[in-house]
Amino acid sequence: MKNKLLSIVNLKKIYHTKNDDVLALEDISFDVYENEFISIVGPSGCGKSTILSILARLEDKTSGIISFKDNLSVGYMLQDDCLFEWKSILDNCLVGLEISKKKTDEGIEYVLNLLRTYGLYEFKDMYPSSLSGGMRQRVALIRTLALNPDVLLLDEPMSALDSQSRMAIGEDIYNIIKNEGKTAIMVTHDLNEAISMSDKVIVLSKRPATIKNIYEINLDSKTTPIKNRSDDKFSFYYDNIWRDLDVHI
Ligand code: ADP
Ligand code: MG
Repeated sequence: MKNKLLSIVNLKKIYHTKNDDVLALEDISFDVYENEFISIVGPSGCGKSTILSILARLEDKTSGIISFKDNLSVGYMLQDDCLFEWKSILDNCLVGLEISKKKTDEGIEYVLNLLRTYGLYEFKDMYPSSLSGGMRQRVALIRTLALNPDVLLLDEPMSALDSQSRMAIGEDIYNIIKNEGKTAIMVTHDLNEAISMSDKVIVLSKRPATIKNIYEINLDSKTTPIKNRSDDKFSFYYDNIWRDLDVHI
């Protein structure tokens, strides 16, 4: 039986600004199951990040129902890696534990282990400026994992990287999330990324974001994101999602 972690029903969001009201989300409903990797795609400015901000409880919803499974914890990895340049890699990874007053010996050991497992231990006393873009993303992911969240929210985690690094880091991020047994919701505007990494792709309309389609990605042989790209069914999903997005050039 699939274990439902999160259920979103008829979510609506209006931003009230000084000059006017912006309707960002309308009638957004979807479920999230344990160990699922979900991508959200949609035109720029449609409301993708708004969904993540609401799930991370950084923004209030206007209406709708969000039910979290008991004690479900959520970790948010922002679009920019937001590393503190004046803190060492280790201290950057400990920021979340520090803020939430959970910097225990056990917490520190958990982070050191993550750094060891994911090839960053030898860099732990260095500063972010000495790392490549891809390694910085890995540090940002470890910082998010430090609090051991059940669900990871990733907002365009690869958007600052060139296209070759993107594929490699996508593979990296995917492997870390699967290895750690996490559930993920990732926002991206890259369809290849979405299809190759996900179990489910949610396609949003332009603002106000409504759900255009939800695709269960059933490839013939699901392996790693890079290999998934050459699956026979890949272009079927790509063509359909591209059509849903209705991009005008
Ligand atoms: P996306 O991530 O899909 O690019 P966002 O969720 O960031 O889109 O934004 C959706 C819409 O809501 C945009 O029109 C944006 O300008 C507006 N918006 C986002 N955050 C705020 C805010 N804090 N106040 C007012 N409007 C906002
Ligand atoms: Mg965004």
